[in-house]
Amino acid sequence: MSGKLRMNIFNGLEKIVKKDYPLGQSTWFGLGGRAEYFIRPQTIAQLADVVKRCSENSVPMRVLGFGSNLLVRDEGVKGTVIKLDGEEFCKVKHDGLILTAGAGADLGKLVLDCVRRGLGGIEILAGIPGSIGGAVRMNAGGIFGDLGSAIESVTLMDNDGNIFEKSKPELSFDYRQTNITAKIILAAQIKLYEADPQHLLKTVKEVWIYKKNTQPLNTKSAGCVFKNPRGMSAGAMIDRTGLKGTKVGGAVVSEKHANFIIAEKGCKSSDVILLIDTIKQQVKEKFDVELELEIEIW
Ligand SMILES: Cc1cc2nc3c(=O)[nH]c(=O)nc-3n(C[C@H](O)[C@H](O)[C@H](O)COP(=O)(O)OP(=O)(O)OC[C@H]3O[C@@H](n4cnc5c(N)ncnc54)[C@H](O)[C@@H]3O)c2cc1C
Repeated sequence: MSGKLRMNIFNGLEKIVKKDYPLGQSTWFGLGGRAEYFIRPQTIAQLADVVKRCSENSVPMRVLGFGSNLLVRDEGVKGTVIKLDGEEFCKVKHDGLILTAGAGADLGKLVLDCVRRGLGGIEILAGIPGSIGGAVRMNAGGIFGDLGSAIESVTLMDNDGNIFEKSKPELSFDYRQTNITAKIILAAQIKLYEADPQHLLKTVKEVWIYKKNTQPLNTKSAGCVFKNPRGMSAGAMIDRTGLKGTKVGGAVVSEKHANFIIAEKGCKSSDVILLIDTIKQQVKEKFDVELELEIEIW
């Protein structure tokens, strides 16, 4: 379908639809091409309308969080990219020990807010950049724990724009994955516990120091590129393959953490993709292990 025909699909929504939007700038890597349509609904009704129009017209649809786990290809993305950063999607509500956070809420800010309120449960996620939607989808976490363990329920939207909930017994969270198949996560209900703010702050600091010492945080990356194969460390395998510092164009394997690829000046997405292929191939040769991507490539 041509771009012109597709634009008719979004008739009346011109205020929230941008065409040929430079998507790379909305990701932590800062790389990659344009989204055919970039849509920022301001209300749930508008979102449902967009979702329905995309479904009815078979327009591919993706949801962007903070772009901290994404690499956008140089040629960009066909179809629609939806960003839930309108006020309605970023609401945060505390009700006793239950925190309800909209998909667009900032995980890092929530962590600190909960610490201040003396509410434990997500302090172990300190230093993980991202939105609540992205953190639920990825079951963000690390050696200290993950978000999934604290999730009571999630509010989702299906491809017809219908809203529904999924709660604990039906939800399963695993290493960097969930059984949520709905395209859109609208909000999450998180169960917290009362705790001493000073104690929580100490944990946040410990997690931060650990991350700062082991990860290249002030660089353009998308965190760990590969998942750790069961019982093994992808970073250690890449390191033992001698790949630290390996460069393709502007993409380089971090000297600090071999599972991070850093985009240096002039880097293109294709450099990162080529470096990923090189790493996969060499780790396969040395360890006979197929590394699986943790980051998503669009
Ligand atoms: C420096 C650095 C350190 C990192 N450290 C960690 C770490 O310690 N642990 C860890 O787990 N991750 C880490 N990451 C990766 C990243 O922070 C997490 O995966 C994060 O949860 C991604 O959130 P996001 O909002 O940026 O999602 P995006 O990168 O924007 O999207 C990731 C996925 O989530 C989907 N998604 C986003 N929002 C929604 C929504 N509302 N509904 C449905 N799907 C949605 C996207 O479609 C995509 O599939 C790190 C990244 C960086 C750059």
